[in-house]
Amino acid sequence: MRAPQFKQWFAKLPALNVPQRIQTLAALHPAAGLDRVISLIDQVGALMRRCPRCACNRYHRHGQANGLQRYRCRACGRTYNDLSGSPLARLRLRDKWFDYLGAVLDSTSVRAAASRVGVHRNTAFRWRHRFLQGPRHDRPERLDGIVEADEMFMLESQKGARKLERPARKRGGRASRRGISRELDCILVACDRSNRTIDAVVGRGALTVAQLDRHLLPKLNRQVLLVSDSHAAYRSFARKHGIAHEAVNLRAGIRVRRASTSAIHVQNVNAYHQRFRQWLRRFHGVASRYLPNYLGWRRALDGGRVTSAEQLLRIAIKVIHSER
Ligand SMILES: [Zn+2]
Repeated sequence: MRAPQFKQWFAKLPALNVPQRIQTLAALHPAAGLDRVISLIDQVGALMRRCPRCACNRYHRHGQANGLQRYRCRACGRTYNDLSGSPLARLRLRDKWFDYLGAVLDSTSVRAAASRVGVHRNTAFRWRHRFLQGPRHDRPERLDGIVEADEMFMLESQKGARKLERPARKRGGRASRRGISRELDCILVACDRSNRTIDAVVGRGALTVAQLDRHLLPKLNRQVLLVSDSHAAYRSFARKHGIAHEAVNLRAGIRVRRASTSAIHVQNVNAYHQRFRQWLRRFHGVASRYLPNYLGWRRALDGGRVTSAEQLLRIAIKVIHSER
């Protein structure tokens, strides 16, 4: 539509009655959703566009495919778009992405998200785990100052798997052995007092020094004060790397070790565990292999770190690019 015609058309909008306004909004909604997605992909892509094959950042524009701009690498000739090689690359129905991400923000079930967005529930499930790759890998670089660390355990689950690696449990149930065993997934959570949080599914059974070396050490500024419960693995880990460490003895019911050092506690990380468990309940059990995605999801929502669909999509696209 030409500009003067558009102006005339636009000037008539206030004359619409309520049903007409609703009808107009509904008609524009998918196109507007698609426009937002495409422009965001372009915005974020522009900051770090490079060839997925040779990492060269010089390119020619090379036409469009499926609504996305294609680029051609000046060095090696490979063509790509801003989503190439990413979990979002072959996802269709981009006009519905924003609505779907809104459902992710609201922590809705697969079924509810599917009906809200108007896609099949298999699609909603697939999208959930594609879009969660972003939040899953969107971790703080480093933890600083006082760092609380504690592990939590969840019953290992092979929900949705075609073949079980063990005899089935009756009704999801409980572990056959008491205490910490190989039937439990061990989840390590650490956070500092600036609300930076990291998490990792470190393995099954009791926490080991090797697991702390692998998952916690790369994230610790060496000047931190590590606070944990009295589990021996933390003590050995701290000693091994010369990291200052305070242990609080939770079993004896002493949450805060000394009155003079009231900052020495693991209450923040324990509260995080609780929020995670409580939030996870709505999904009625999640498969162990998807746990890292749910941890990332929770981490994004926790403390209102991510509050818009746009932010979520940005994270998803950014992570792709930084890992290319
Ligand atoms: Zn190239």
